[in-house]
Amino acid sequence: MALLNDTPAPRVAATLHGYPRQGPDRELKRAVEGYWAGRRTADELHTTARSVRAGIRRQLRDAGAAELPTGDFSLYDHVLDTAWMVGAIPARYRAAGGTGPDAELAAYFAAARGTAEVAPLEMTKWFDTNYHYLVPELGPHTVFAADSRKQVAEFREAIDEGGAARPVLLGPVSFLLLAKPGAQAGEGFEVLSLLDRLLPVYAEVLADLRAAGAAWVQLDEPALVQDRTAGVLHATAHAYHALTAVEDRPKLVVASYFDALGDALPVLAASPVEGLAMDFTGPAAANLDALATLGGIPDKRLIAGVIDGRNVWAADLERALALLATLLGLTGRLDVAPSCSLLHVPLDAAREPDLDPQVARWLAFARQKVDETVVLARALSAGRETVAPQLAANRAALASRRGSALTVDPQVRGRCAAVTPADARRPQPYARRAAAQQARLALPPLATTTIGSFPQTGELRTARAEHRAGRLSADGYRERIAAEIRDVVALQEKAGLDVLVHGEPERNDMVQYFAERLNGFVTTRHGWVQSYGTRYVRPPILAGDVSRPAPITVEWTSYARSLTDRPVKGMLTGPVTLLAWSFVRDDQPRADTARQVALALRDEIADLEAAGTAVIQVDEPALRETLPLRQERRAAYLAWATEAFRLATAGVRADTQIHTHMCYAEFGDILSAIEALDADVVSLEAARSYMEIAGELAVADYPREVGPGVYDIHSPRVPGEREITDLIDRALRSVPARRLWINPDCGLKTRGYAEIGPALERMTAAARRVRAAL
Ligand code: GLN
Ligand code: ZN
Repeated sequence: MALLNDTPAPRVAATLHGYPRQGPDRELKRAVEGYWAGRRTADELHTTARSVRAGIRRQLRDAGAAELPTGDFSLYDHVLDTAWMVGAIPARYRAAGGTGPDAELAAYFAAARGTAEVAPLEMTKWFDTNYHYLVPELGPHTVFAADSRKQVAEFREAIDEGGAARPVLLGPVSFLLLAKPGAQAGEGFEVLSLLDRLLPVYAEVLADLRAAGAAWVQLDEPALVQDRTAGVLHATAHAYHALTAVEDRPKLVVASYFDALGDALPVLAASPVEGLAMDFTGPAAANLDALATLGGIPDKRLIAGVIDGRNVWAADLERALALLATLLGLTGRLDVAPSCSLLHVPLDAAREPDLDPQVARWLAFARQKVDETVVLARALSAGRETVAPQLAANRAALASRRGSALTVDPQVRGRCAAVTPADARRPQPYARRAAAQQARLALPPLATTTIGSFPQTGELRTARAEHRAGRLSADGYRERIAAEIRDVVALQEKAGLDVLVHGEPERNDMVQYFAERLNGFVTTRHGWVQSYGTRYVRPPILAGDVSRPAPITVEWTSYARSLTDRPVKGMLTGPVTLLAWSFVRDDQPRADTARQVALALRDEIADLEAAGTAVIQVDEPALRETLPLRQERRAAYLAWATEAFRLATAGVRADTQIHTHMCYAEFGDILSAIEALDADVVSLEAARSYMEIAGELAVADYPREVGPGVYDIHSPRVPGEREITDLIDRALRSVPARRLWINPDCGLKTRGYAEIGPALERMTAAARRVRAAL
């Protein structure tokens, strides 16, 4: 029998579920992109990947983590890796990989990002995080086959260096629930029906890991923190009975995170698995009572996620210790961990030299979260006195945060406290507003517009970089932006659009731009977080009370208006989206933070209006994506989220038209929330879903104006006029012409001018044609 790699366990050890994959300077991103561009060989890519993994392990061991996760690393995405591990890669990608020496890698990246011939797998959000995974495609004919090479190799790398490691795999139930039926699957096919064919493949991988020396393997089942049917819970029980019935296997830990297990907890507790990993932070704090009610899991190991793995804040270590003390009585063996993989936070707060030092000490990125985890484990196993200095420093940091002028601005507090329900309600009913707006704007039926951004060209990006580096003066940069706005306005006039935009050339990013101009936000230099594949984002940190020191968008919007007689739409990012794509403070309810942001935007909207802007769009593409995972919390979320939007927008005159925009989601289940925004016009992504949304809006009796997208801006393809006409006709079956707007699905910033000139001309031509036939 192989020698087992088990932890000789201090009573309480520190461990984790996963770590950021990019390497300290995003080496992995550069290596993967270099490979795509043909600048690196597959061998060179694998060498970089190995050294990034070795660096991570060194860091984790030096920090004092007792059992390292392995297999969480990925060249692109861990769900795609899981599909590969079980052999569920559609044949078209294997074919696209060819037969060369790097065929497997080529097939892997073909599935991830497509080739000239095949479209990639669909991508979607990983639960309510900002990470996106590739959606496995399954069908009745899917043949699973185990390929444990990656898992085994990464585990071996770790244990060859000495010390304990625990392979982390996405579990079979979540894998199936995260997948979707492929195009050929046929009506009525249920992915979960594949479970019995999938389990033997997992059993084989587990056996391979056991043979390599793994004492423990973790199977992640985050899908169980969502509302699940009795059928799914039954399948879960079945899966873990089957996997534990296999002889000669590692011990199993089933992990969950992002929310409480709810009904799935008794199922897992009653299953023969040897351990559970549970989240005890945020909404998942409910796990504690549930576990206690159950009488604990005295015969199982518990990996307790007590450090929030999704925020950037230093934890309250005393509170975590108190929680752990309770958990000690509820389990046979306790380990301490962050609540989830640290994939969702930046790497190292110590590498932010530009940050205000007082803010810096409140922060904990991945590296600091591991340190916190280790301190907690030491306090419990070796005694508090062994970590007294760390606990004292933590108390001091928390106290400085509570008492800081940044976190508590009395003026902001006073203003928020004085908000009344009337402030979040437009005084005039929609019908009155619509008439006033029609009188002021005199738009034709089927009015045409765009969603805001025009292409962020290489020249714009270069100008911004040159300006930042001090090689392009402020005036030089401003002239560059002004010239771009002139071109964008001219292009829109030529295309015949009815409501123009300034094109957002000055914005690197729709959240960062505002974060940099609002008090209360801080931005980082290296705070990269993986969004998907090799795409990383640097979310701003919302650290304190929010206010607006000066107008943000008025100048460029007014400049664009000075260039044309047509209305120009002002363009803002809404409060919910500013929160969703930032790291938000954890020391007050999100609703309170949203209200502060809303008031700052309300000031901006008042200034835009006073400057003469008749149409103002407040984008909320993230409204749907931060919907809580559990149904029971959704109504409360939607109530404060829509209130924040209305608080931002309700101060305008009747004849000022408020637009909003949403994308990246299906909206069927939040139509009443969209209505609750009380915007005069909403534009929605729709071209890819064949105008389903228009029908849904009609069924829901949506009373105001809508612009379901007629041009799919995610692809470089220029739609034909006929195609657009068809979509408009289809939308007209559900929405009357006077309430229908004609616009693309989303902003044009990722497109090129070669495409959007013709596309917008066809869009306006299609609108004119349909209009003429009304
Ligand atoms: N106004 C933004 C743009 O056009 C909206 C972007 C978005 O919806 N994600 O780029
Ligand atoms: Zn959009």
